[in-house]
Amino acid sequence: MNQDSTRKARVNVRRAEVMEQVEKEIQQHYQSELISHIRSAGNVYNLGHTEFFLAREFGFCNGVRRAIDIAYAARRVFPDRRIFLIGDIIHNPEVNRQLEEMGIRKLPWKQLDSSYDRVAPDDVVIIPAFGVPTPFMDALEEKGVQIVDTTCGDVMKVWKRVKNYAAMGITSIIHGKATHEETSATASRALGERGRGKYLVVYDLEDARILCDYIMGRGDREAFLKRFEGCCSPGFDPDRDLEEVGIANQTTMLKTETQTLQKMVKDAIVQRDGDDDNFYVFDTICGATQDRQDALYELLKNPLDVMFVVGGYNSSNTTHLVDIAREHVPTYFIESAECIKSIQYVDAFDTKTREVRRMTTEPVVQNLGKSLKVGITAGASCPANLIEATILRIADLRK
Ligand code: SF4
Repeated sequence: MNQDSTRKARVNVRRAEVMEQVEKEIQQHYQSELISHIRSAGNVYNLGHTEFFLAREFGFCNGVRRAIDIAYAARRVFPDRRIFLIGDIIHNPEVNRQLEEMGIRKLPWKQLDSSYDRVAPDDVVIIPAFGVPTPFMDALEEKGVQIVDTTCGDVMKVWKRVKNYAAMGITSIIHGKATHEETSATASRALGERGRGKYLVVYDLEDARILCDYIMGRGDREAFLKRFEGCCSPGFDPDRDLEEVGIANQTTMLKTETQTLQKMVKDAIVQRDGDDDNFYVFDTICGATQDRQDALYELLKNPLDVMFVVGGYNSSNTTHLVDIAREHVPTYFIESAECIKSIQYVDAFDTKTREVRRMTTEPVVQNLGKSLKVGITAGASCPANLIEATILRIADLRK
C-alpha cells in the first residue's frame, strides 16, 4: 500500500487547555519543593550535621520534559484510544511506570516483531525522546496509526548530520553505544535516503584505537569485522569504506572521550593521507549533557566525602556522570532512595560490570556522628522528587 495514502497528519497535542492539566499532573508526579528551594538557595543545603552540595545543573533536561509533556498530553487528547509507546519514553523507571499506570502500553523497540501486529490504524503510537529507526517509522506510517513524536530536537540534529554525510558519500563514525535506542535510530539515518550510506559505531577508545590502526594500514580485516559485528552498516568493507569519514556522537556521551576519539581519528587520517581533507567532524553532544558534566566538574571542586548520582541504570548521560564523579570521590549510582538500605549499605549500580551490587558506604560510616559533605547530582531523565527522597533518606539515616 502507498504510505502517503495511509499516513495520518500529525496532531498538536500540546494545546493550551490540555497543557494546563498536564502541568498539574507533572507537578504532582515529579516536582519537589525542597529541590526548588535548594536551587534558589545556591545549591547547598544543611540538614543536621549533613551538608548537601547539589550540582548547578541536574535532573530533567528540556528534551526529556518535552517528551513527558507530549506523552501526558496525548493521553488527554486521545482518552478513548489505545496508546502504545515504543520502548521507554526516557531512561527512568519511575517515569515509565507512571505512563504505564496511565494505560500507555509498551511495544518492543529492538525489532519490529509480531507484537506490532496488534497495532491498528485507530491506535496512537508514541515515539520516545531517543527516536526510533526508520523502518519503525515506515511500518507505522504504512499501518496508518496516529503517530505522536517526542524525538528530541538535539537527536534530530545528529540525524541531519549523518544524513548529510550519507548524501556526500562520507562514512559516518558514530561515537555511541550500538545497542542504545538513540544510536540505533541515528545509524538507520546514516544509511541515507537510498539506504546506501555507510556507518561504523565506535563505543570507546579501544574501539577507536582499532579503527585508527586500520585506517593507518595496521589492522587485521577479519578481526576488525568481528569486533564491529552488529555495529556497522550492512556489507561494511573497512578497505573501501574508511576513505572519507565524518564523526557524529550519541548526544549523551562523555565530552572528553569524544574529543579524544575525534583527535585520534583525525590524526590517523592525516598519517595515512598527509592531510585531513577526508576527515569531517561535528560535535553533536547536546547542551544538556554538556551542562550536567560541566556542573559536576565544578561541584567536585568542593571537599566532598561522598557522592550520590541518581538516575536510571540504562541512562547513558547518568552513567557518564558516575564515571566522572568516581574519579574524584567515592560515588554511588542509585535509581532511587530505596537503594540506600541502611547507614552502612547501598544497592548501587556498577557501571563496569553493569550490575547492582550491595556496597558498604565507608565514607558515611567513617563520619558517623561527625559532619559529612554529600555531593548530589542526577541524570537528564531523573525527576526532582527522586532527588529529594535521596536527600531526605540520607539525612534521616544520619540522625
Ligand atoms: S539529554 Fe540531550 S538529547 Fe537527550 S533528551 Fe535531553 S536534551 Fe535531548
